[in-house]
Amino acid sequence: MAAEPAWLAEGRRHIWLPYTQMATAPPSLAVAATEGTRIVLADGRELVDGIASWWTACHGYNHPHIRTAVAEQLARMPHVMFGGLANEPALRLAKRLAGLLPDPLNRVFFSDSGSVAVEIALKMALQFWLNRGVRERHRFVSFQGAYHGDTFAAMSVCDPEEGMHSLFAGALPEQHVVPLPRDEAGIAAFDAYLAAQGGDAAAVIVEPLVQGAGGMRFHGPETLRALRAACDRHGLLLIADEIMTGFGRTGTLFACEQASVVPDIVTLSKALTGGTMALAATVASDRVFEAFLSEAADDALMHGPTFMANPLACAAANASLDLFEREPRLAQARAIEAHLGEALEPVRGLPGVVDVRAHGAIGVIQLDDMSRIDWLKARFVEAGVWVRPFADIVYVTPAFTIDEADLARLTDALVGVVTAWSRER
Ligand SMILES: *Cc1c(COP(=O)(O)O)cnc(C)c1O
Repeated sequence: MAAEPAWLAEGRRHIWLPYTQMATAPPSLAVAATEGTRIVLADGRELVDGIASWWTACHGYNHPHIRTAVAEQLARMPHVMFGGLANEPALRLAKRLAGLLPDPLNRVFFSDSGSVAVEIALKMALQFWLNRGVRERHRFVSFQGAYHGDTFAAMSVCDPEEGMHSLFAGALPEQHVVPLPRDEAGIAAFDAYLAAQGGDAAAVIVEPLVQGAGGMRFHGPETLRALRAACDRHGLLLIADEIMTGFGRTGTLFACEQASVVPDIVTLSKALTGGTMALAATVASDRVFEAFLSEAADDALMHGPTFMANPLACAAANASLDLFEREPRLAQARAIEAHLGEALEPVRGLPGVVDVRAHGAIGVIQLDDMSRIDWLKARFVEAGVWVRPFADIVYVTPAFTIDEADLARLTDALVGVVTAWSRER
């Protein structure tokens, strides 16, 4: 094996890694390059990528169409401020996103990360009420198992354990975090909860169809329809956090389509630029937008990230949308779903395997014990794949462009490693 590159050895002492206990963490792998659905390591090994870099690289890495668009924009204008100045990629992207989302989701507010897009959505919902003179609607309703980001307001609407509500008790705003209604009884209980306790709530926030970073838990379209109906009945806004599900991951361009539900606010990020640049959007309905229109300067939405509507990132996003138009991404996602549904079956029922499930291009094996997570991670790399178990799951969310051979390598590795794990437990 080739020696570790100098930049890794020297930089390691100065870097702080995400979600990582730095005292005990195994070292990160040095990456030399990416291409398609492969990650090329500095020592020459190649891994089949099962994660698409946290669900972003939906067309695979280094797609030539996105590269060309970004290179052309880089030569013309990498960035210009958005206050008072308009750039063509951003305005074109706003028009396209409004066209892809159902009416009346027509107003796009750009930012640079998913957490910030969620902060903006929450702020929009709060100020929607304030601008109408309603002061008591200052809290949010969210769900156990949810993940909406790492900034403070976003954390406050995450699952209490995931969002570390007890660790940050006192520092986090207190929200209504309730069980996600999954059946008639759950829906009735949710409705009763809103009737009794929802008087101070501005909005309900949900990840439609898939709770992602909370453990890839799925729910049906009837849940979304029930949430929409409950919001209408109790006068709350509905925020759909499509940061993970948006752009085809569940088999439709947006997950809400599968329930024919139109939220009041939608958040987008992750696959928005096809995995090339940081960009996010918070898209509001006409009704939400109109609540900010008045003669009073104070009624304006008080937000404006420095790199808002960055032209390079918007050029990447426009190129990514071109690919959704020109290439059969949704059909590819559904073909991956069909493969995952069959290929992961052999581990169902093995000792320690709690559940096996697939929805769109998301395949999940749920385990009863994650105490050997580092062992699992190491076996996957040995098997030539990049898979990152977390919480109680081993999962894959590959690029939609993954070919049959690489997809089979991925699922073979999943089945092989989980089978070995089950035998040795
Ligand atoms: C990843 C994610 C976020 C946070 O996005 P960041 O870009 O990491 O801040 C928010 N909501 C959902 C559903 C996500 O999957």
